[in-house]
Amino acid sequence: MLFDFLISMETQLTWYGQSAFKIKTDAGKILLIDPWITNPTFAGGKDELASLDRVDFIFLTHGHGDHVGNTVEIGKRTGASLVSTFDLSAAIVSTLGYPEGQAGIETTGHLGGQLSLLNGDVKVQFVPAWHGSSIERENAMPVYAGNPSGLIISLRNGPTIYHTGDTDLFSDMALVKRFHKIDAMLVCIGDHYTMGPARASEAVKLVAPKTVIPMHYGTFPVLTGTPEAFGNELKKRKVKARLRVMHAGETIALDSGLKS
Ligand SMILES: [Zn+2]
Repeated sequence: MLFDFLISMETQLTWYGQSAFKIKTDAGKILLIDPWITNPTFAGGKDELASLDRVDFIFLTHGHGDHVGNTVEIGKRTGASLVSTFDLSAAIVSTLGYPEGQAGIETTGHLGGQLSLLNGDVKVQFVPAWHGSSIERENAMPVYAGNPSGLIISLRNGPTIYHTGDTDLFSDMALVKRFHKIDAMLVCIGDHYTMGPARASEAVKLVAPKTVIPMHYGTFPVLTGTPEAFGNELKKRKVKARLRVMHAGETIALDSGLKS
């Protein structure tokens, strides 16, 4: 029992591949970000998707299919609230049928805004990302889904996590550290559709997180950026952040000092 109690006192982060993460807070709340659980790099995706029976929030950065992923199925099954910018939320509800009652104003914001969820246990700030955002449909025009975003998720008595979404490098990333001390930065490195290793390492330098975890690489042949190349670029720039490369399906413990 005591052991269970100790385990539950930490924040856990699971990477599913691409840009999909699960955060389990120290209070046992389940947050998903860009949950494409059944992506091709995660062999256990189908089983994991089936086992997700309790999810509190689904955070989305933009409307592309490799980020929306299994959002609607999970939302319908678990009753999770959708957390995103206004236009994206409206598009997910109207185009994909996400339950409207789970996408209300308490969990819908916009760039620059910070939402306080669960009485402040979870806070999320929407920050810019340089990318596109639409929802693709078969044999029809894509649906407008607003500006894409990055997400800064702050957990009470826990870590602050910056998920960049899909983006290029931009100098305003330096503003992040004026408002937040980032414990873990989840950064896209795959190139082609987002920044690659060199530009991503400049982004890390601007944000100055304690730990950096690469994402959005290796899922498709065109996403050629690798953690090795990223590590070399970080070294070249003498970036102090610790590089933690995860594998799809792996869970690590996070705290403000990041343990593993
Ligand atoms: Zn995208």
